[in-house]
Amino acid sequence: MRKIEKDLSNAPKSLEDKIKELIRNGDYQKINFKKNIQKSLRRVYKNKCAYCEERISYSQSKNIKEKKGHSIEHYRPKSKYYWLAYSWDNLLWCCEECNQNKDDEFEIENEKVEYSTDFDSKIHCSTEEYNRLERPKMIHPELENVMDKLIFDEKGKIYSSDNRVQYSIDCCKLDRDYLNTKRKKVFDDFIKKIHSAIADRKNKWLQDNIEKIVLDFKNDSENLNNEFIAFRVWVIEMLKNSYSYKIDFPTWEHYQYFITNVSKYSTLQTLLECETKEDVSEELIDEIKTKIISKEYDIMLSITHIWILFKIDIDICELLELIMNIYSCNEVIDELSKYRLNKIFSQELNCLSFKIKIKLISRKLIYHPVI
Ligand SMILES: [Zn+2]
Repeated sequence: MRKIEKDLSNAPKSLEDKIKELIRNGDYQKINFKKNIQKSLRRVYKNKCAYCEERISYSQSKNIKEKKGHSIEHYRPKSKYYWLAYSWDNLLWCCEECNQNKDDEFEIENEKVEYSTDFDSKIHCSTEEYNRLERPKMIHPELENVMDKLIFDEKGKIYSSDNRVQYSIDCCKLDRDYLNTKRKKVFDDFIKKIHSAIADRKNKWLQDNIEKIVLDFKNDSENLNNEFIAFRVWVIEMLKNSYSYKIDFPTWEHYQYFITNVSKYSTLQTLLECETKEDVSEELIDEIKTKIISKEYDIMLSITHIWILFKIDIDICELLELIMNIYSCNEVIDELSKYRLNKIFSQELNCLSFKIKIKLISRKLIYHPVI
């Protein structure tokens, strides 16, 4: 669901006669929209459903009968608000399924507004005032922007911590399997592109390529002709918050290594969820140590863990010393310097135990001002 811009001052003329008829009869007989209403709504909504944002299949056949009534949704149900059956701001472009799911559902917190001639002059733009009086639970996509209240997950599921938004999701069944699968595909296709770029290790333009893939996806999320804009925007926000993991890596190679390994090792994932050193449990450190000692984690993976711990402000001397006891000092320093980490860790390297320090100094691997 995204905010829709509709010009309420420019309601299609063909609605006027219908409204006069409604008010004269005190009810509607049969809802019958002219073709130009469908056309105008289709244009305003970029032919996507007001609620689920799926593209609405629109047959080019001349059989208008099949199309009539199915895709025009009354925000305020015509059965309860007959006089709004042809009001421009009460008409949304909607897929058949959302339309049927919502049906006559329209809960309000206050008392229902009844027809009054006072509204005749603003019959095409009364929703805002009606909403103020009635306080409906249903979101009106032309009046409200709820994009930041929509929460998705990578499986395409949708929910919200906002009661009104969740009510709208429930009414239209926006969390239905069919839609979740379609949203998930948008995410999967994007991630697949990134993974295949990473897998192509010979490609020296990897960073540029990934940036381009992300930029293309971002552009797609701004192209209102695309389906599921709210979901695409959520993916971009999630990328900003979690794919960079708030950690600036010393080199692109380090980042690349990290990205290919993060999903494989639970300790890396757990570490990334830690914001401060208080969040890092002793059990986690012990688990990392055990894996380093047993060589389950190779030298680079061990260093990656140490790097993240260092960024969370944890004393890494003991761990550095540990891997220097398992591998040779040379090997560790080689690996560290490959990723320019020896300079970053210089202070820590100087704090290592006397035994290790002597080894390092004797091999001129660290500079010691005293000796
Ligand atoms: Zn829909």
